Amino acid sequence: MADSNQLPGASHLECMGTGERVESEQLIGLSRVGKPLFARYDLDAIADRFTPELVACRSADLWRYEEVLPVRNRAAQIKLGEGWSPMIDAHRTAARLGVRKLWIKDEGQNPTGSFKDRGLCLAVSRALELGAEELALPSAGNAGSAAAAYGAAAGLPVHVVVPTDTPAPILQEMAALGADVQLIEGLISDCGKIVKAGVEKHGWFDLSTLKEPYRVEGKKTMGYELREQLGGRLPDAIVYPTGGGTGMIGMWKAFDEMERLGWIGSERPKMFTVQAAGCAPMVRAWESGAEHAETWEGASTYASGLRVPGAVGDFLILRALRESGGGAVAVPDHLMAEWVLRLGADTGIFAAPEGGATAAAVPILLEKGMITPDDEVVLFNTGSGLKYVGSTPLD
Ligand SMILES: *Cc1c(COP(=O)(O)O)cnc(C)c1O
Repeated sequence: MADSNQLPGASHLECMGTGERVESEQLIGLSRVGKPLFARYDLDAIADRFTPELVACRSADLWRYEEVLPVRNRAAQIKLGEGWSPMIDAHRTAARLGVRKLWIKDEGQNPTGSFKDRGLCLAVSRALELGAEELALPSAGNAGSAAAAYGAAAGLPVHVVVPTDTPAPILQEMAALGADVQLIEGLISDCGKIVKAGVEKHGWFDLSTLKEPYRVEGKKTMGYELREQLGGRLPDAIVYPTGGGTGMIGMWKAFDEMERLGWIGSERPKMFTVQAAGCAPMVRAWESGAEHAETWEGASTYASGLRVPGAVGDFLILRALRESGGGAVAVPDHLMAEWVLRLGADTGIFAAPEGGATAAAVPILLEKGMITPDDEVVLFNTGSGLKYVGSTPLD
């Protein structure tokens, strides 16, 4: 490669509904049949030089995995310090819960205080590279501030549509990051309709979860990091607070890629989705054995990242749960809030309610025999508690 800024990038995109092969070097949303598109890489071609040893001495951000990311020109990599979040050994919480080993992957330490930075970093970098001029997305909050940050860093205008009950710190953050913020009386699904209208009328590029191919690519780096931070292996179980599901789907994709690269074998962690009792479409679908999830009516939870009544990637989430031998459980808001306090006092991490929800799920998973006391478990604290100050049920 003559140009040192040039990376391999994706070989093509694949429709997750039909398997159709689609050109990757174009601005694109969903596939022709309305399903998510996944980036595919020529992994066999890079496997002999893209090795764990090479990655080990690279920068402490998600770009350390740039060969398996879609951005082709390093000049389009927007960097604010995203990814490579710490894995905290939560031994007091492990003892409290009765599991052998418990790690907390603290995604609250990302640039805008949530793991949404990973996805939006990639989506905005790619949109910039492919010539998008204005960006838009509906958000429950954190995706909006992440998009605002990366849009600002890329020099692209960002339109965010959020529900009026989005936590105040997040609204202030989006405004400070220069986004055009529109408040809607309703849920993220209602916000999505406003964005769709703007896309049609003004030609905005839609960054909605899984409606463009690259947020999931940013989120998948959590799967690569887990392996690297655990010294070359994966845990027994992953407990993940699931809304739109990009994190879950992304990690599952990363495991397949790593196996193809020869970085891991065919073993996989049990994947567990945690949702709020007031909005649990995936749990309901999981329990009924369905392939798709029905929309949840009257969604309500203070964990705004989990206030997602329906997800385009529902079938991909349910597939990962099934194939991994995992499952899905719901926890009520008051338990999330209690576990935020316990985690804080045990570990020094001020968790988002979504992070509290993962700890609250562990006793349920133990009781149901879905995890055992001998398991090594990773909880994902997907955001910082600072983003929810003023909106917790215990305030
Ligand atoms: C968006 C969000 C979630 C849900 O993440 P998905 O990957 O969309 O399922 C969980 N926690 C927080 C803090 C979030 O912002």
